[in-house]
Amino acid sequence: MVETEATGQSRTTMTGRIPECDVDGIEWESVSCNLCGGDDTRPLHRLRERAYGLPGLFQVVECEQCHLVYLNPRPTRRSIRMFYPPSYAPYIQSQTESPPGRWGRMKSWIKRRIFETAGAMSPECVGQQRLKRSIWLTPLVWFYTLLNPRFIPFEEGKRVLDIGCGRGDLLRFLRDLGWEVHGLEPDPETARACRDRFGLDVIETEFEEYGAAPEPFDLVVFNHVLEHLHDPSEALRRANRLLRPGGRLLICAPDITSIEYRMFKDDWFSLECPRHLSHFSPTTLGQMLRQTGFTEPSVRYEPAEFTLRHSLEYRFHDRLILDRSSLALILLKGGCFLVSLMFAIAHRGSIITIIARKTGRG
Ligand SMILES: [Zn+2]
Repeated sequence: MVETEATGQSRTTMTGRIPECDVDGIEWESVSCNLCGGDDTRPLHRLRERAYGLPGLFQVVECEQCHLVYLNPRPTRRSIRMFYPPSYAPYIQSQTESPPGRWGRMKSWIKRRIFETAGAMSPECVGQQRLKRSIWLTPLVWFYTLLNPRFIPFEEGKRVLDIGCGRGDLLRFLRDLGWEVHGLEPDPETARACRDRFGLDVIETEFEEYGAAPEPFDLVVFNHVLEHLHDPSEALRRANRLLRPGGRLLICAPDITSIEYRMFKDDWFSLECPRHLSHFSPTTLGQMLRQTGFTEPSVRYEPAEFTLRHSLEYRFHDRLILDRSSLALILLKGGCFLVSLMFAIAHRGSIITIIARKTGRG
């Protein structure tokens, strides 16, 4: 066994591949549990890549000690790039989307009014007078916040860093609320699209290569990113160092203990082999946050129709359905939204948002 990397609790060796996984061009590594450092695991799934028809067979395991679920063995940092083809959906969307027109600007204005109201009603920044004026909007604000769990009330002069910001959806949303927004995005075309189309301050870089910021951030975001990283514990420690004391961290990721996972197992869309290297639950992610200098983790659930719809497509068609204009697909989307809404209200939705604070107050 040749040890090639030792970061945090993750030990990496190059000799762990399973023979039937072997494919030309993929460099494999075996790792210990990123949460507890243990090596005792039980296999859960053997899966191929399904979204783009790429080669390889991948094994998902569960740590016997702490129950973190992860891909092992897995492609190295260098090899994983071949599983993000130019047709990878988040890249394509960023390059085809246009800047907002009149209707888009009106939607932003409406959103901002609703979230200003929600902010006035939140325990963090509510004043009694504003609460009284806003209370009649309670059902609307509750429902809208349920649909947008990444909402964080704006406070004057606050700075946010979105790590792996993709097409900049969340940054534009937070900018509309008044935040000073910054983003990191490793894909050159996507980063350029963010800058040119939407005027966002997005640096083209991997998070691991990002140096110190000139001043600390008030909010750091991993929006569907942490599960893609080879060393999530180290990424959280790095994020911690970028925050001011008392600053907040927002993580959005699939929940491996959700009803959807239990229903679909191998066909669950969010297994997303091999791009998702870790599969978190509120428990394992909460433990990892406490180990890396965060406190008070709170969990929100959202209706995620796309994970339910894509899981159904995998179960019954063995592939994603690309025809986005058919009536059947529109009906399927509507049905999936309603079911995923019920899951979210029951706090069993497939996508979780966890918000935690850096230990210590600023
Ligand atoms: Zn473990």
